[in-house]
Amino acid sequence: MLKKLLIANRGEIAVRVIRAARDLGIRTVAVHSDADAEALHVLIADETVNIGPPAAKKSYLNVEAILKAAADTGCDAVHPGYGFLAENAAFSDAVTAAGMVFVGPSGDAIRLMGDKVAARSAAAAAGVPVVPGSTGRVAGIEEARHILTETGFPVMIKAAAGGGGRGIRIAGNLAEFEQAFPQAEAEALAAFGDGGLYMEKVIGQARHIEVQVLGDGTDAVHCYERECSLQRRRQKVWEEAPSMALSDRVRAELCASAVRLAREVGYSGAGTVEYLYDDAADRFYFIEMNTRIQVEHPVTEMITGIDLVAEMLRIAGGEKLRLRQSDIAVRGHAIEVRLNAEDPVNNFAPFPGTVTGLRLPGGPGVRFDSMLYAGYQVPPFYDSLLAKLIVHAEDRDGAITRLTRALGELQIDGLKTTKPLFLALADDPGVRAGAVHTRWLEGWLDAHAGAVAAAAQL
Ligand code: ADP
Ligand code: ADP
Ligand code: MG
Repeated sequence: MLKKLLIANRGEIAVRVIRAARDLGIRTVAVHSDADAEALHVLIADETVNIGPPAAKKSYLNVEAILKAAADTGCDAVHPGYGFLAENAAFSDAVTAAGMVFVGPSGDAIRLMGDKVAARSAAAAAGVPVVPGSTGRVAGIEEARHILTETGFPVMIKAAAGGGGRGIRIAGNLAEFEQAFPQAEAEALAAFGDGGLYMEKVIGQARHIEVQVLGDGTDAVHCYERECSLQRRRQKVWEEAPSMALSDRVRAELCASAVRLAREVGYSGAGTVEYLYDDAADRFYFIEMNTRIQVEHPVTEMITGIDLVAEMLRIAGGEKLRLRQSDIAVRGHAIEVRLNAEDPVNNFAPFPGTVTGLRLPGGPGVRFDSMLYAGYQVPPFYDSLLAKLIVHAEDRDGAITRLTRALGELQIDGLKTTKPLFLALADDPGVRAGAVHTRWLEGWLDAHAGAVAAAAQL
């Protein structure tokens, strides 16, 4: 078992990882920027190290400073959380080269599955259906023209190194495509340090469904699926498990394909295989694999009773998978909503500030993963995610009712948050019916500004 863990992250996920480590008797070291000296992950860790100025490039993305902090405090492992360095193959390699354990897959596995183009090929090789599109990176417009004959329009131009809903463009015709392609290349280079692009047919009215996997390098199991179809700008805002759209047959096929892929690449740690599911055509397509813990992992924990972060730490410590597939069962339904420091009545403008008061939800089936405490000053430098409210009940209707109940208890004073959006959504007949797809929320927002504004007055 690992003895001392450095958490190379901040916010709610750093807090989440510290909790799992503590539960396993592992000591914890928090790193932080100048802006985060009073952050919750810093307050609850056993030891803390300041790794630099507020800008993430100089602190949370500063590999040298993080490795030095780990060495100085005698850590034997590093957990990267999500975002920042979590899918950086060179970081995984550097941690290993420094004689420590990277809590996640090897650099080679990240290069294979974290690069979205390489992952498409690996998926196709494992017999997992991929979205029709380019087979590799697309070098230029000439090559793209050939691929367009297969995809047709609209077509997506995606960055090989993209993530977090960024680096994706849609072109409706050739003129738009010819204009968008060079722009996408320049943007990808600036945002991800890699201008590589690929192309995919746009799957209209599809659901986002993803399968949680755990692997130990030899064997792999799945922990069923999550549905994350409620998105804004291709970012998830509300996630649930299980999916409301899958038949038992499709669920079995989807989960089996994710396990096949994980086994094929000798995957180690927790990972997520993401798909689009076209319910009308009853077809699913692989879109990418996230080689890390995901923001929405708690919904899976709620329905399976598995602590995914603890399993990651056990696997990193050298244990074989403890779970057999037959041990993993689903009970009830869970929903997570992302509480961001954004004003949903004002086009989701960021709203950093000070938490002047805080009242937390609780009771049966309620979990609140957060970085908040009364008096906390939310810095303006990072992701706007403050907290995740997760509810669990016997069935989906019960979970939605419980979500409304828990949101009613929750009060965050001093900031604007996305809470009113979720109150309005939980009350919406379309959400109750579950008849959603990845573009559904954007249309709903255009039509329901009033409902969100009314919820903001509650
Ligand atoms: P999840 O499926 O876990 O929600 P997301 O794709 O939304 O994953 O990303 C989770 C976090 O990681 C977000 O904070 C997002 O901004 C960040 N992230 C993911 N990939 C990248 C990337 N390539 N570059 C920068 N940030 C990223
Ligand atoms: P990221 O790495 O940013 O998470 P993904 O490839 O996972 O990017 O795509 C993010 C979201 O964009 C998906 O959940 C879906 O809503 C949309 N999307 C991606 N690819 C397609 C596609 N081929 N057709 C339709 N929507 C897509
Ligand atoms: Mg994705």
